[in-house]
Amino acid sequence: QLAIDNLSATYGKLAVLKSVSLAVEKGEIIGLIGPSGSGKSTLLRVLVGLLKPTAGTIAIDGRPVDFGKAAEVRAVRDRLAIVFQQFNLFQNMTVLENVTIAPVKIKKRAKGEVREEAKELLRKVGLGEKLNAYPDELSGGQQQRVAIARALALKPEILLLDEVTASLDPELVSEVLDTIRLLAAEGMTMLIVSHEMGFVRELSSRVVFMADGRIVETGTPGEVFETPQETRTREFVSKIL
Ligand code: ATP
Ligand code: MG
Repeated sequence: QLAIDNLSATYGKLAVLKSVSLAVEKGEIIGLIGPSGSGKSTLLRVLVGLLKPTAGTIAIDGRPVDFGKAAEVRAVRDRLAIVFQQFNLFQNMTVLENVTIAPVKIKKRAKGEVREEAKELLRKVGLGEKLNAYPDELSGGQQQRVAIARALALKPEILLLDEVTASLDPELVSEVLDTIRLLAAEGMTMLIVSHEMGFVRELSSRVVFMADGRIVETGTPGEVFETPQETRTREFVSKIL
């Protein structure tokens, strides 16, 4: 449903995405891996409209997006949701308010209905007891699960996860991974950037290896981790496994 075609992006003069092409089908879980600075976060930023590409197209359901038209960029953003390493919760709002604010204020949906959905989502991520807590009363893992619930409240067709466990204490990582497993079991389409290779391997239908702004290799987890074809992939895999 999402087709990325020859996408390029720069920060100033620095080329960070170099003609990246990738198709994400409904229900797929793509594990995006690669060395630090290879452009993984940048790709996600372009997809959600935080950065304008310098070349290439993205298309949803076959319909290409004109990045010059704000309404079209917004329409894409409506269908994707992103969760970052830093949870970026609103500190002065309760857990429930954090999850309901965007659907109510931005999508202009009815407050009562949104609250019921938000409670259900928070129960699902294991925070049904924390609806009225404030972010600073929660552990990092709990805060990240609020951030995931907040993204899901926007009913995205594709969920983008950028290193969502990277800033958590090791003992808190598994509860966030369990939440992602649950979403995977429900058939959520996801693009997951992670350094948790065991997790990427377990969950991904396809693994995409990026280096230096390009997609170097794509394959099943078995192919990429066990029989990588490219030297660059072999080097990376041998270092991390
Ligand atoms: P990591 O695994 O460390 O998160 P990454 O694959 O997500 O790395 P990006 O954050 O996409 O990498 O960065 C790609 C390149 O763009 C890097 O060379 C980085 O230094 C540069 N870069 C990233 N953000 C900015 C920015 N806001 N301004 C200028 N350059 C940036
Ligand atoms: Mg990154």
